[in-house]
Amino acid sequence: MGIVLDRKELIKYPFLKESQQLARRHVESLEEFLGSSPGVAALERAKERVVAALTFKKEFGDENTQNLKPEIEIASYAIARMLVSCAGDRSLVDRLARYEAERASFFLAAEEPEIRRFVAWSVGIDTGAVAMPVTRYVELVPHLRDRRWRLVNRDVRQGGVNLEAGEIDELIRERIRAIIADQLPLRVPTGICERLAPVTSEITALRQQQVLEQFGEIKEEAFPPCISALIQAITAGTNLTHMGRFAITSFLHTIGMNVAQIADVFARAPDFDPDMTMYQVEHISGRGGTEYTPPSCATMRTFGLCANRDKDCERVNHPLSYYRLKKNMAKKRS
Ligand code: SF4
Repeated sequence: MGIVLDRKELIKYPFLKESQQLARRHVESLEEFLGSSPGVAALERAKERVVAALTFKKEFGDENTQNLKPEIEIASYAIARMLVSCAGDRSLVDRLARYEAERASFFLAAEEPEIRRFVAWSVGIDTGAVAMPVTRYVELVPHLRDRRWRLVNRDVRQGGVNLEAGEIDELIRERIRAIIADQLPLRVPTGICERLAPVTSEITALRQQQVLEQFGEIKEEAFPPCISALIQAITAGTNLTHMGRFAITSFLHTIGMNVAQIADVFARAPDFDPDMTMYQVEHISGRGGTEYTPPSCATMRTFGLCANRDKDCERVNHPLSYYRLKKNMAKKRS
């Protein structure tokens, strides 16, 4: 496509290869760049990006008024990706990918048609499409939660899925999100991660605070019966199935326990194997690149893990909802 975006336009779409090329022309050595004043400014802006991602920021107009040079602004995108990669927490990666896609989508909405067409084309989408081949459609939508995206709810004709007005914009945003998420985490050299560590720690602390604010202080007495039963089984030295280990680890991780705290729960087992436990806990907690959400009550039942159901279980369909419910009940009583 014969379009050349200028530097001001590239900052809105830093994931484009043209944007990356611009930043690369100004950054020969990352180490040296991070030590320079433009590098310090880029790192500060990168932190802002990640913090904005954590707070689900959806307004982006003010970013155009910042005085950073376009190449520094784009470098901040690259550094933000390094920050979340060094943090080793998949939830940060997912938040950043979502934020960057929302941001691009925000700018695209007010963009000249040919620029919009070009950016969409760069991520493999035709803005003029009123239908999309089924195979392409199913590749694009698996992470879109609204039921209307399910293939069974779509108007499919002659191998094509018809698109409603405005849906192409949602698909562009989702495609950008998926591209960015798929590229992460990056393999960042240890030395660079060490250099970024002060900022990474701030971000991790903010994330931890968010989780704690969402679920509050960890209260074992509010655990659902299934999770308490799994902990008792561990303490008694019973061998848990893979799904049992997965359910408890993902549950504890989601309510805000860190890897060491989760490993402590497994350490209650008489045959505790620290290395194996750390490996499994880190994997399920997202270090391997995918953050897993704990199974719902329906899945727990399927795997025979819904144990000691009580009357409050009738009000929920997810162990996390049970936990929240019990904590709120305890708060009201106190
Ligand atoms: S109903 Fe849900 S929360 Fe209650 S024990 Fe079963 S899986 Fe756990």
